[in-house]
Amino acid sequence: MRHRRPFVAGNWKMNPATVAEAVALARAIVLATAQARVVEIAIAPPAVALLAVRDAIAASDVTLAVQDVHEHEKGAYTGGISAAMLRGIVTYVIVGHSEVRRDRGDTDARVNAKLRRALDAGLRPILCVGEMLEVRHSGRADEFVRGQVRAALSDVAMGQASRVTIAYEPIWAIGTGVPAHGEDARTTIAAAREEVGVLFGAATAHAVRMLYGGSVTGESIAEFAEQPGIDGALVGGASLVSDEFARICAAVGVARTRA
Ligand code: PEP
Repeated sequence: MRHRRPFVAGNWKMNPATVAEAVALARAIVLATAQARVVEIAIAPPAVALLAVRDAIAASDVTLAVQDVHEHEKGAYTGGISAAMLRGIVTYVIVGHSEVRRDRGDTDARVNAKLRRALDAGLRPILCVGEMLEVRHSGRADEFVRGQVRAALSDVAMGQASRVTIAYEPIWAIGTGVPAHGEDARTTIAAAREEVGVLFGAATAHAVRMLYGGSVTGESIAEFAEQPGIDGALVGGASLVSDEFARICAAVGVARTRA
């Protein structure tokens, strides 16, 4: 079976303040991560900076992601960006981020529609799933995450599922400075992988990359990168600091080399 390439994606959210700063950050990340060759690295700047950042990273191995996509193909959706518009600009599309679920009312059904649009356009979705703290405390986190995976991958064609990356991001760990425990992330990610297996078979379950996200730093990454079945990280705050982001990428590479 083919080995999954480790993967670190940086979600810049609504940062930095200007397109010029986004270009400068992208250049700094290219320089800082130049050694981390075993790891695939993606950055997701704000949509308005995508073209400028694409040009800034063109000569590097760093790939580009968008933070969201519209669930419809085209039409009267003011402010929307369709998957087809992103073709040729980005490789990855983040879908189902908990901030989008929370702030823009994305339901599981809408996340599913976005994910399928992305796949149909030849893009690679990074599907975010993760539970609230009450769900974790009630002991139902794995079951909840399996349900999100099942809903998001509904009606995805067998041949397309392995192009999805799943990021397990417990909501209570995002931006709080309190990451999950590595062992909990490992078991929930194993449950998500098992669900992919139920839906698409063992080979696809093996092929799908699984990331951990939630307050990952250069310090905390080792706890996750060394867990079997965790292929890297989706990084928010720490992806805005090139050296810190590079530390995370390097740690993921080292963990893979040791595995
Ligand atoms: C995220 O928003 O995807 C994320 C993981 O954020 P942070 O690393 O800041 O917790």
